[in-house]
Amino acid sequence: MNELTELEVEDESARDAGSAPADNTIELVPRFKDQGYAADLVSRRRQWLEEQTDCRLDHVGACSIPSERMRGNIENPIGASQVPLGVAGPLLINGEHAQGTFYVPLATTEGVLVRSYERGMVTLTRAGGVVSRLALDENRICPVFVFEDVVEAHEFTQFIKDNLPVMRAEAEATTRHGKLIDIDCHQIGREVIANFRYFTGDAHGMNMIAKATDQACKWITQHSRARHFYSLSGYSSEKRASGVLLSGGKGKQVTAGALIPRNLVRTHLHTTPEQLCDMWHRTMIAQLSANVVGYNGQFANGLAAMFIACGQDVANVVNSSVGVTDFEVTERGDLYSSVTLPSLTVATVGGGTALGTARECLEMLGCAGAGQAPKLAEIVAATLLAGELSMGAAIASGEYVAAHETYGRNPPE
Ligand code: NAP
Repeated sequence: MNELTELEVEDESARDAGSAPADNTIELVPRFKDQGYAADLVSRRRQWLEEQTDCRLDHVGACSIPSERMRGNIENPIGASQVPLGVAGPLLINGEHAQGTFYVPLATTEGVLVRSYERGMVTLTRAGGVVSRLALDENRICPVFVFEDVVEAHEFTQFIKDNLPVMRAEAEATTRHGKLIDIDCHQIGREVIANFRYFTGDAHGMNMIAKATDQACKWITQHSRARHFYSLSGYSSEKRASGVLLSGGKGKQVTAGALIPRNLVRTHLHTTPEQLCDMWHRTMIAQLSANVVGYNGQFANGLAAMFIACGQDVANVVNSSVGVTDFEVTERGDLYSSVTLPSLTVATVGGGTALGTARECLEMLGCAGAGQAPKLAEIVAATLLAGELSMGAAIASGEYVAAHETYGRNPPE
């Protein structure tokens, strides 16, 4: 008799519909009482897995997050993954929301990444700091409605305009912080994609706005000619790259820029503004040839490392990394550099932001809790600018491989 006797089993129809062997030898993962979040049940699940797979999970089990706190973040918990955490800085930011000097936590297994961001940050700080501004702050969800024909679909657009206040009331009845800004309609044949645009406060907001929009859509199907709808159409580009992300609307649109004197480019980045701009021009053409959406060197590196450290949903690196890096030589021969992230999804409440190390890292940045999401967005943008400068300079100066050889190799023993 194994742990399965204590499981909450799948419902009968799901089990009957499958092709389970008649002898019922499938070993389902133990769920235990109340979904098994108590520390002893997490431990028993891990022991069950050790027996199933004949391996030890000591590191997985060495987890300091109270297992009950994982409810709502993970199912079938067995412990925690550990990713090395480094710090890069100092990074001086003169933002609207982020002001002062920051030390940025970066969780990664890519050697040289922290050193590279650190080099960019020290350069920027010595140059007088980064300016950063938030232009748009909203998140979206885009259900698709199906109609009898093109005419009905066309008329639906006017219906949405006429009834916006009602739908706003329906949606906002489900949330204290979510605010429905507007609904944009895109007709395609006899379908209409409705882009529900929300302000989501300091939360990432996907759960919040999925619930709010579901409520509004129920009202729509009762009062319009829509035959049916699917709550997610894919148009929102949540967790996928697309051209539409470049015009914003999926998260926060944030820009960071800095003027770097010529002598600092030479002493700290080992190149010149002209070399950097030539590199930028050549690689931009190469990225265009590859049909890359946007243009940047390594947004995903800094985003993934900050997202893991700060409890963000790491899958949102995909939409957040669509953006543009720019290098220019000024009339005085200095370098102006900037990054623009049109669709950055970050949060300081909800999701994984309250869990153990994530909470500590957000506190390290002064970004834990309510009112801090715009500040976090500006810090992320300034951090990415540092990474773009350092990586761009390493390519321009020919030091890229040497840097990785020094810091970034970890061959098997
Ligand atoms: P959540 O953790 O599900 O909920 C956060 C809640 O915090 C909000 O709904 C809000 O309640 C409350 N809140 C308290 N103080 C707030 C403040 N200052 N600003 C904003 N909200 C505040 O988080 P979520 O952000 O809605 O969803 C994020 C999670 O959804 C992530 O973990 C992500 O992985 C996951 N996700 C969901 C979907 C989906 O389609 N459902 C898709 C992708 C990802 P009120 O609403 O009552 O104001």
